[in-house]
Order: sequence, then structure tokens, then C-alpha cells
Amino acid sequence: MRRSLLLLPSLIAFIFLFTSVASAEEQPTREEQLNARMRYYIKYESIMLPWYYLAAVDQFERNIEQVRTDIPEKKGVISIKFPYEVWAGMLNPNKEDTAPRSITFFNGKGRDGNQDGIADPDNDDDVMYTMAAYLSEYGHTEKSIKKALMNYYGRKQTVNQIMTIAKIYKHFQNIHLDEHAFPIPVEHNFSYRGTWGASRGWGGRRIHEGTDLFADYGVPVRATSYGIVEIKGWNKYGGWRIGIRDIHNTYHYFAHLAYFSKEIKKGDIVKPGDVIGYVGSSGYGKKGTSGQFPPHLHYGMYKDNGRNEWAFDPYPSLKLWEKQEREARK
Ligand SMILES: [Zn+2]
Repeated sequence: MRRSLLLLPSLIAFIFLFTSVASAEEQPTREEQLNARMRYYIKYESIMLPWYYLAAVDQFERNIEQVRTDIPEKKGVISIKFPYEVWAGMLNPNKEDTAPRSITFFNGKGRDGNQDGIADPDNDDDVMYTMAAYLSEYGHTEKSIKKALMNYYGRKQTVNQIMTIAKIYKHFQNIHLDEHAFPIPVEHNFSYRGTWGASRGWGGRRIHEGTDLFADYGVPVRATSYGIVEIKGWNKYGGWRIGIRDIHNTYHYFAHLAYFSKEIKKGDIVKPGDVIGYVGSSGYGKKGTSGQFPPHLHYGMYKDNGRNEWAFDPYPSLKLWEKQEREARK
């Protein structure tokens, strides 16, 4: 007992020195950021609730925070934000209640994860502990996690996006999945321009939601990110098309393919550079229609902000990925 008391001041001095040295340096690297998050996921996972579910909820909230102006940026490592009525309890007269006892009394979800006697919605430990406790209430099967998420977010597409992120994390056993690939191998001939919002020839008054990459028939088309194949099949506008959802709430749409890669099927997990199909000119008519326009890949990107999904211009991303790939080859 006396020994540990004597150790305490030097321990505090050490921590102080350590943290002040760390804060004197620049922003943490991407690697350090991801490692810091991973430590929280592992700390609050359990046999019943594997880390990737906690990681997926956190990542989803980080994604929507980045594209929504009505969500304030959360400080700290974890991005999960509990609405006050959920944290403190719907009928709690104190919306900013952080006392575990009265929160529990008013049926609030807020818990004290780091055992400092305060259930603080801005504290990463308390937030992770609370989310883990909430999800675990429902059970531990995929179905029960989905039910918990549906009750919490009240939106099917949100549940789908979170489950997509969880499956990708589980598959790769990693959250460092930022890498991207250009959809067409850069050794092939191709051309594309930024034509965002241009009107189009077929299908009425639709605007062009994407970038057309012109290339020869049969040139391989590749996944641009880590993701899950959500849609594969025929659409009268897009022809043979594939839709892939990634961990950044982005849906990647590849249309007018000549044919698909043989092994690719709905539900598959892909990584950047995986061949998913081949350039063609399918679409603009009934199933199997082809040759109504020059062969090209129509590439679209859609972002889910937790309320709706909207198209955004893929051209800047394409330019960046092409440049990165050309530089990597040098
Ligand atoms: Zn197009």
C-alpha cells in the first residue's frame, strides 16, 4: 500500500510528461488515429458482441458527421453521439444529466464506462460502454443486432449501411481500408471528362449523375474501394450494372457493362482493384439491349447522410485515383 502511494506522484509526472510531449507534436497520423479507435473497440467488445459491430456504428456516425452541417463535430476518438433524450431518458427533466443513478431512474441509456461516477456523453469510454450495453440488450445474433440498430436509428438504410461496414471489417479483420483503385487499369486507353449534371439523351428529363469513362469493349472494370456487392443485374437505363457499398457510406455504381466477371455475385466482399466486369454499351432498352451508344463505363457515386442518399460528382475522386496509380507505377 505504501509503496503504491509513493509510486503515484512519479506516475502522474510521467503521464504528464508523456502527454505534453505527444501534444507538442503535430496531428496524429492516420495510422495512429485508427489504432486509437481500435483500442476502444477491443476494450468494449465481448464474446457476445464482437468489436466490428461497435466499429461499424462509430464509422457510420463519423461518415454522417462529415457530410451533415446540423451535426456538430464530436471531439475525441469516438464519433458516436447519443441524443440527449436517449442518454438521459425521455422524461428526465435534466437533459444534461450525467448522474448514473437518476439516468437509470428515468430509463436513460447513458452509462459510466470509466467508473469515475459520471455518465458523460462526451467521454469516449462512457459512450462505447453505453453502445455496447445497448446492443447487447437485444442478444448477439446478426438478426438481434439489426433489430437493436433499427430501434435506435429507425431507418432501414442506416441498418444496411452499418451491417455493410461490420461485414467488411469482420472479413478483413482491420479498419485500415482507405485504399482506392481507378476503375480501369491505367495501361488501357480511356478518356473521361467532368460532365457533372449534363442532360442526357434517353429516359426523359434525367441529369447525368456520374462520369463516363470511354474505353474499348472488353476492357476490365475494377472495384474502386473495399465494399460489398449490393446490386448486380439488369436495369433499363444502366444495362448490366453493379452497385458496391463501402465503409464511407458511399455507393459506387458501374453501368453499361458488356458482361460481369464470372465469379462476382451479390453479397460478395471486394477490395480495390478486383475485376467486377468489362466495358460495354448495354442499356437504354429492354434486357440485353446493347450498342445504342459508344462503349463506356458509367461510374456514379452516392453518399448516404443518414437521412437520404444523394449523388455527388465522382470526377475529382477519379482524377485523384488515376494520378495515384500512375505515380505508384513509376
Ligand atoms: Zn454516364
